Amino acid sequence: MSKIYNFSAGPACMPEAVLKKAADEMLDANGSGMSVMEMSHRSSSFENILKDTKDTMRRLANIPDDYEILFIQGGGNLQFSMVPMNFNKNGADIINTGQWTKKAIKEAQKLGRVHIAGDSSDKTFTYIPKITQEDLDPDTDYVYICENNTIYGTKYKELPPHEGKKLIADLSSCIFTEPLDVTQYDMIFAGAQKNLGPAGVTVVFIKKDLLNDKRDDIPSAMLDYQTYVDNDSMYNTPPTYGIYMVGLVCKWLEDEIGGLEEMEKINHKKAALLYDYLDQSKMFSNPVAKEDRSYVNIPFVTGNPDLDKKFIAQAKEAGFENLKGHRTVGGMRASIYNAMPVEGVEKLVAFMKKFEEENA
Ligand SMILES: *Cc1c(COP(=O)(O)O)cnc(C)c1O
Repeated sequence: MSKIYNFSAGPACMPEAVLKKAADEMLDANGSGMSVMEMSHRSSSFENILKDTKDTMRRLANIPDDYEILFIQGGGNLQFSMVPMNFNKNGADIINTGQWTKKAIKEAQKLGRVHIAGDSSDKTFTYIPKITQEDLDPDTDYVYICENNTIYGTKYKELPPHEGKKLIADLSSCIFTEPLDVTQYDMIFAGAQKNLGPAGVTVVFIKKDLLNDKRDDIPSAMLDYQTYVDNDSMYNTPPTYGIYMVGLVCKWLEDEIGGLEEMEKINHKKAALLYDYLDQSKMFSNPVAKEDRSYVNIPFVTGNPDLDKKFIAQAKEAGFENLKGHRTVGGMRASIYNAMPVEGVEKLVAFMKKFEEENA
């Protein structure tokens, strides 16, 4: 098998050690004589996996007992609906930072009032709007943000003001890439397929208090967070294999990486390698405001669409996969989540240098 580096934005590369462990356990997990895929979700074997996964997450991010950990299907996109369906009573303040908040706004508008508290569409979402408390609508229930904007490569380095309101955040592309203080939020959600595991499971951390402020017109048990709390995420058959994989990834973070502080150091190192090169390059550039740059999604362009194409094709040939930018913005994007080794970024930068020399 030839080694490639996968810079996909999601589903994304997984830690090799985790894939090997999953392969080892594929036919016989923990001496059960069966694959995790074959286990009843009501079996003690699977109950242990679920408990282990939650316990590991709690240790990793010091998640206190007044927060619930839930596993839901339907991806980030279902959360765009579930959040307002459960919590938008008097309105939602949403900060528009790109595609993922646009979709959240659209869904929230179907279910209640939305106030756009900030918007960076004027510069193609290349920065994070710095809002003040005065930019918020006084009557809304919560402020909603997308913390790391996967497509544009921006990230909040500080959370927005939200005095007197709940804070709900989409962390799909940055969860566990750095230490996380969940007590700063009332609810967090993240699709697993960027940093936590395979597609098909969405992790939710939700403050128990928030559940007391729910709407009373939620149309389905499956769309009500309380159902997941009351049934330990097993009201229906949960995505068992996905939950198991999230558990393996979290254990890898804990045991192999040494926790989220260590993970952050590695991620900052990788990001600095790429940004330092981009900032001095005469061919490639990154369009994002420096203070708002993402550590894990790094878009770049040559300024010449033909040259971009040539770069993407040659990079693929050299073993650097999925460097094409999102279809709505073009150019290139390197997604360098937790599982991307430092070596992968070093080799990419060396390849970019060579390409620049050859095409100057
Ligand atoms: C990928 C992504 C989503 C969408 O997730 P789906 O699982 O495809 O619904 C939402 N928000 C962010 C920040 C993302 O990166």
